[in-house]
Amino acid sequence: MHEMGIALEILRIAGESVPDGARIERVAVAVGELSAVEPELLAAAWEAAVAGGPQAGAALEIDWRPARQTCAACGEIPERVPGSWLRLCPRCGMPLGIEGGGELDVLRVVYVEDAEETDGEVA
Ligand SMILES: [Zn+2]
Repeated sequence: MHEMGIALEILRIAGESVPDGARIERVAVAVGELSAVEPELLAAAWEAAVAGGPQAGAALEIDWRPARQTCAACGEIPERVPGSWLRLCPRCGMPLGIEGGGELDVLRVVYVEDAEETDGEVA
């Protein structure tokens, strides 16, 4: 399951994009249909990656990006059944191309900066 490595990489990228000591509330990632990532497995891997660590409880939002099939003449072909591909345009018979679906990006990180710790000493 390579999703664990991806979850750890997302956690690393998210951690680098927030100030030291900040607590990550949630991370939004784009996952494309052609990125070879299973969203359910990634969600489970994320839970395991943050569990027990400083970012325990951080949520992962997966923005699923399906690939689109397009015809040079007719534009986007919405008839495609998810998980299958049409070879030819159902309207005009031209070969179809594929656009998008390869995304695997951290879109945004929502975090809270912890209040400064006080040790009780008053200068
Ligand atoms: Zn067409």
